[in-house]
Amino acid sequence: MFIFFLYNYSMKTKEYTLLIDLDGTVYDKHNGMWEEMSTRIAEFMRAAVGIAEEDVVPTREKYYHQYGSSLRGLQIHHQVDTEEYLAYVHGMDLSKYLAPDPDLRYQLASIPYKKWIFTNSDRNHTQRVLEAIGIEDLFEGIMDVWTMHHIPKPESWTYRKARALAGNPDPKTILFVDDTLKNLIPPTKMGWQTVWIDPALSNPQVSFTVPRLHYLPNVIEQIEAQERLTRVPARKVQPVDLSLAMDFSI
Ligand SMILES: [Mg+2]
Repeated sequence: MFIFFLYNYSMKTKEYTLLIDLDGTVYDKHNGMWEEMSTRIAEFMRAAVGIAEEDVVPTREKYYHQYGSSLRGLQIHHQVDTEEYLAYVHGMDLSKYLAPDPDLRYQLASIPYKKWIFTNSDRNHTQRVLEAIGIEDLFEGIMDVWTMHHIPKPESWTYRKARALAGNPDPKTILFVDDTLKNLIPPTKMGWQTVWIDPALSNPQVSFTVPRLHYLPNVIEQIEAQERLTRVPARKVQPVDLSLAMDFSI
């Protein structure tokens, strides 16, 4: 065990900081949970905010594209009570969708770097999800919608704030993981290493794509291997001795 630890430690090239999204990233986004959350958002917009049935879908789309989340649009245009909204939208029985994931726990625990959750969701929901999967003790902390003063990803301010909260690491040593492509574009431009969770596609606008969060150690391995390669000193090339070539010319 101790030897394993030493081996692992010696393989470290730099200290990396991992910022990991929650919904759709720490669990499979097609597990049915999003559908129930989505239904609940629509119900809230109709019943609590009073938006007409036929306007709910276009309003949500508009807010999502314009502000990054339905909640942000509802706060700006309808002064919704944020806690009431979040409690309703997340108030489902998580055991219908989530179960302990010991494989994910093992993979994340094997990464010897600090990990944070960085989500547009709120802390209560985040804690419930992490506990349902059994990974709640693996993170330094949770950066949620309250931490970010309700300014969601992909607003660039939010990424600067997240970096500051993580102790201002060198941008090149931040690894940010998210299942939403548009959330990965600003941090890639800021020099962060970005990982898109997508089962089928890859995209040149991000640094890496993996089908599930379980593959994160492979990404780290790749980054560290690359880092070790750049550390190998360049060998001095000896000039060719042309007089020797003359000797073989007969
Ligand atoms: Mg997500």
